[in-house]
Amino acid sequence: MKRSRRVKILATLGPASNTLEMIRKLHEAGADVFRINMSHASHDLMRETVKNIRKVEEDVGASIGILADIQGPKHRLGTFEKGELDVKPGDQITLDSDPTPGNSERVHLPHPDILDAMQIGHRLLVNDGKVNLKVVETGSGWAKVEVVSGTWLADKKGVNLPDSELRSGALTEKDHKDLAAVLKEDIDWVALSFIQRPEDMAEARKICQGKVGLMAKIEKPQAVERLDDIIEMSDAIMVARGDLGVEMPLEMVPSIQKKMIRKCRKAGRPVVVATQMLESMITSPVPTRAEVSDVANAVYEGADAIMLSAESAAGDYPFEAVSTMNSIAESIENDKGYAATIEAQRPEPEPTGADAISFGAAEIASTLDLAAIVCFTASGSTGLRAARTRPSKPILTLSPVPETARRLCLTWGTFSVTTPDPTDLDDMVDKACRVAFREGVARPGDRIIISAGVPLRTPGSTNMLRIAYIGSDGQGSVH
Ligand code: PGA
Ligand code: MN
Repeated sequence: MKRSRRVKILATLGPASNTLEMIRKLHEAGADVFRINMSHASHDLMRETVKNIRKVEEDVGASIGILADIQGPKHRLGTFEKGELDVKPGDQITLDSDPTPGNSERVHLPHPDILDAMQIGHRLLVNDGKVNLKVVETGSGWAKVEVVSGTWLADKKGVNLPDSELRSGALTEKDHKDLAAVLKEDIDWVALSFIQRPEDMAEARKICQGKVGLMAKIEKPQAVERLDDIIEMSDAIMVARGDLGVEMPLEMVPSIQKKMIRKCRKAGRPVVVATQMLESMITSPVPTRAEVSDVANAVYEGADAIMLSAESAAGDYPFEAVSTMNSIAESIENDKGYAATIEAQRPEPEPTGADAISFGAAEIASTLDLAAIVCFTASGSTGLRAARTRPSKPILTLSPVPETARRLCLTWGTFSVTTPDPTDLDDMVDKACRVAFREGVARPGDRIIISAGVPLRTPGSTNMLRIAYIGSDGQGSVH
């Protein structure tokens, strides 16, 4: 089943949607990749969900990507004697390592590394920034904070620390267990939350050993500062606007989003725009005008994928949320201004054979009005380079490795099919034509352009371009 939409839809699964029947419906409505949130899913539920997605994949005969999102060091307050505490600006309270329930004098902060990292003047943002605290005094294993704004604290509320550089890595004990369980399943992508440095990605890379693609969620100012190095160490990036908007001034998020999309495209890494894209659809069957504009904006910016969180995981209208996102994306991509905008942002080719060939293929496909660019790609790298050019014609990627086809589901403009390696050059042309014809990408009489690295299965070795005709029976020929 081929979609014409170029931007991909990443839908989070949860209690509202993780059944076989709903996954099938959401895929039909437009979801290309599903996210399993390990903050909420047990290992059993994760395995069950993967099984359901793979069943749908088998039934529809098209690759589906699966992303497991690892919680990372999400910090929370301890508990209060009364379950909550009313506060007002100017109040002072000590955060310490004593697990007994807190009161108006003190409360437990069950993270020794934060207690060590806090310095006078650092901010603590509680409950998505609804309460703003400032450190006024520190000691060994405790810190006294003053309420700057906000009125209410309660048990286990989340705490963001935009100013404190934490020495600990991005993987907690729970994350290590989750990661070990995830790596045993048929999962394509792992997203890491609250990473601060490229070393955090390196640590995960050692554990994952190339079994999954690694996505860095950019949601801390420390990560924004080191963006270039983090992109270099990652296979994909998420603009995690939820926590980013707590840790940084909200009005800076749109420009950071634009910058991240531009840099990722330049580096040839898929980039996902996430959080609150259709937030009101958690409880309403229609979005707000502002939300439609937000989704449209991410599409115009050339993001690889746009994401739904609670809208598809826990809301009342998961199906409507996916199909709304799908219609917005289709409508924007049909706008004449869209192609011009995407084209204007095209980065220069890098001086490598692979990149020059990818740009050549995009150029030739457009000049000759070809039906598609067909890439043979074992590792996916030729597919990624093709997508980096954001060509005006569809990209069909053919890979003998099912995991490559699934991983590419996150990449802009690619349609991935798993097919055995061709035996020789003639077979390559024939396969490209037959698959393009079978998947409805090209019709008899159309021409396609084929790019590949020969010999096959040498990553980054793209060195061949070939134009081929689709014959009347869907067979290929170069004449
Ligand atoms: P989350 O990540 O939904 O796991 O918090 C995304 C974000 O913070 O935007
Ligand atoms: Mn987050």
